[in-house]
Amino acid sequence: MTEMHSNEAHLTQATINLANLSDNIAVLQRLAGDRPLLPAIKANAYGHGAAEVARHLLALGYDTFCIGPINEAITLIEDGLDARFIVLSPTLAQNSSYIVEYALQPVVCTIDQIDSLAKEARKKGTTVKVHIKVDTGMGRVGIQPSEFRAFWQYCQKTSHIEVEGVCSHFPMADSVDPSFSRGQIEQFASLEEHIEGSARPLFHIANSAALLSLPESRFDAIRPGIAVYGLSPSLAMRSPALTELKPVLSLTSRITYVKEVAKGTGISYGHLYYSDRPMCIATIPIGYGDGLSRMLSNRLEVLVGGQRCRQVGLICMDQCMIDISVLRGRVRLGDEVVIIGSQGENRITVDELAERQGTTSYEIVTALSERISRVFVDEKDAEEKRARFP
Ligand SMILES: *Cc1c(COP(=O)(O)O)cnc(C)c1O
Repeated sequence: MTEMHSNEAHLTQATINLANLSDNIAVLQRLAGDRPLLPAIKANAYGHGAAEVARHLLALGYDTFCIGPINEAITLIEDGLDARFIVLSPTLAQNSSYIVEYALQPVVCTIDQIDSLAKEARKKGTTVKVHIKVDTGMGRVGIQPSEFRAFWQYCQKTSHIEVEGVCSHFPMADSVDPSFSRGQIEQFASLEEHIEGSARPLFHIANSAALLSLPESRFDAIRPGIAVYGLSPSLAMRSPALTELKPVLSLTSRITYVKEVAKGTGISYGHLYYSDRPMCIATIPIGYGDGLSRMLSNRLEVLVGGQRCRQVGLICMDQCMIDISVLRGRVRLGDEVVIIGSQGENRITVDELAERQGTTSYEIVTALSERISRVFVDEKDAEEKRARFP
């Protein structure tokens, strides 16, 4: 089953394997036991296409998603998606009316925000479900653990506010040394003492790395992101379950131009590359405007005809060049170029790109821009089958 989208005319396309997404979520659910998973689909589902990913997860029974800025949820709701959304980034009072109107569940950590949400909810005769964010060591947002009791009580006595969850976040759950994360878990667990009354909120702190490597971090719910997409939280991370995850995204382009160049020919802006011999150079329509970082210039390798070929010269906004000298005479216009994924016996992973660029898997996939067409397939082993017949 292949569904095409309006920008299919762009020769650079991301193929999203929804069967792998299903398998990954099953692996994560097995680790989580009967606790709910609240998958993170922020930043266009880590570049994979939020609408389709959310719809697919919804069909698998997941109905609560984590997003960043609230427009991500609004777009999906306007598009007809019937799900609940936890807004991970605190926002400002000016957005309270949207939160109430779209029944979003914001993370809260200021009294101003509580007051503003309560006021807006009262106007509309409804209740806002909030998640109290506690900073146990991330150093980004959240009340201090020592402030929790008072904050919790303030929320309890404010009408039109219902505390649905209490949450925190790990800055280094992917680290080989779990001691800092263990300290956070202890602090987080100690907050439970302050909860009195019958309605106990959901305690959630685990991200992908914690779910994979710190069983004691699981509490009542888990917010996995990167692992849902079959990617590792970091190059250093080791976990048996990681090897069961399957990358969901592959990225391909097509050869649009081929030429022979003499020794000493400058390639691309700034002539940061000169051919050191007569070379066969191909051009492909992917550049930093598609999210392929200019930082990868002269460092990237791609697959053509099942072989690794070096990218040469500065990566432009819409195009870049590759050295296909080893394939001279065997490459045609329109031939497939794999930037992420497999072809023949060879494979290029998101981690390889991340390492070459000096960044993380998160940034590589999140950077993939809107104009790249995303083709959704829901077929087991789709990439392996394709790779066998390049
Ligand atoms: C993005 C995010 C997650 C998911 O993190 P992964 O490392 O992708 O699993 C969980 N919680 C918060 C607060 C986040 O910002």
